[in-house]
Amino acid sequence: STEFQGKHVTVAGLGVSGVPAAKVLHGLGARVTVVNDGADERARAQAAELEALGVTVRLGDADTLPEGTDLIVTAPGWKPTKPLFTAAAEAGVPVWGDVELAWRLRGENAAPWLAVTGTNGKTTTVRMLASILRAAGLRTAAVGNIGVSLLDAVTGEQEYDVLAVELSSYQLHWAPSLRAHSAAVLNLAPDHLDWHGSMDAYAADKGSVYEGNQVACVYNVADKATEDLVREADVEEGCRAIGFTLGAPAPSQLGVVDGILVDRAFVENRQKNAQELAEVADVNPPAPHNIANALAAAALARAYGVPAAAVRDGLRAFTPDAHRIAHVADVDGVAYVDDSKATNTHAAEASLAAYGSVVWIAGGLAKGATFDELVAGAAGRLRGVVLIGADRALIAEALARHAPEVPVVDLDRTDTGAMLQAVQEARRLARPGDTVLLAPACASMDMFANYNQRGDAFAQAVRELGA
Ligand code: ADP
Repeated sequence: STEFQGKHVTVAGLGVSGVPAAKVLHGLGARVTVVNDGADERARAQAAELEALGVTVRLGDADTLPEGTDLIVTAPGWKPTKPLFTAAAEAGVPVWGDVELAWRLRGENAAPWLAVTGTNGKTTTVRMLASILRAAGLRTAAVGNIGVSLLDAVTGEQEYDVLAVELSSYQLHWAPSLRAHSAAVLNLAPDHLDWHGSMDAYAADKGSVYEGNQVACVYNVADKATEDLVREADVEEGCRAIGFTLGAPAPSQLGVVDGILVDRAFVENRQKNAQELAEVADVNPPAPHNIANALAAAALARAYGVPAAAVRDGLRAFTPDAHRIAHVADVDGVAYVDDSKATNTHAAEASLAAYGSVVWIAGGLAKGATFDELVAGAAGRLRGVVLIGADRALIAEALARHAPEVPVVDLDRTDTGAMLQAVQEARRLARPGDTVLLAPACASMDMFANYNQRGDAFAQAVRELGA
């Protein structure tokens, strides 16, 4: 591509998206400057690697726009309000994210994208989708936030028939020209509002995944906001709105009938009005929200023309990632479940709804969320609650309002050792048959490096109980 020859491209942010973006752009003949806020050891090592190639790196100042910049390629997480972007807007310099760059570089004969976004369930759904596509004999990969990087997938040697693409709201914000074969918005609940500025702005970024879709816009029948986004989207002629539901499907929907996942949107045999895909028991784990994920994955695969048997085989071959409703152990008749990935209230609501009587471990960084709805909905199922983390008072207040009878242990500590104490307190509250559920409804960074570490700390604490 000569498009970048001699262009001055500023890459905003080192790290997982910035380093590969800088290398690819440099390889295409662009003059690349990387700007990065921090200058820690990792940043300096990455900078050295890039400088050896002839890339300019400016550490410690990512606010001012480098002279003569023609284009900015930003790490997705960077806030649109950053001074760098204000300066870019004033200078008329376009800003692309890593996804926009990948989309523009994908080349001729490129594999179509089946895109998945939503507040929760993205990774699970994309991995289910890739498993289904693979079962159909297609060359594919789960790309985006997970597995193979998008840039690698579109510029690498490996050829693909179709890509299963996970897109965050940040990535969509910075990817204005992306046009998917088909896309799904799984659900829409407040999250990352501190970044997007408002729920409307967040929804608009999520909804942009439908723009220009060719075959299907997949929405969640139980979440009207997702259907509204389909209606507002400008799509290719003939592109269909396809719903998924945990109930019986209407025409143009996938749903569940008598324990069977059923497709009434893409029917193979004209004599019938429904196509059986798989059994609920083929979904791992068969929790309601996860069946919804399976239906969304199936809808995208079916939109791409995958036969029913491959949906079943792909779902059977799928195993969930760690820290997503992972059963850790049973101790004294109590099940301990790690859903550390429940980093917002909507996710925690789904996992709390999957159990009968729960001792709930929650808390962390709230990211601007409120907890009234979550707590009011779960009150009847709570045996007790153990609160950890920086914003636990917000949850304690909601519990006092909506579940005053429920015993609450408020752990006033945010050191990593707090998890062991939290699990011990949970054990005291639990009775045989209960589930102790880590579903924090909050981000982890006040106490842990990430949700993985938080989940590992929980599992470690449970093992110490059993010992
Ligand atoms: P994401 O990639 O969107 O963060 P994951 O598949 O990693 O989604 O799941 C994150 C968490 O969200 C899970 O641990 C679970 O608590 C919850 N979850 C998964 N799917 C759904 C869904 N369809 N609706 C609500 N919550 C969900």
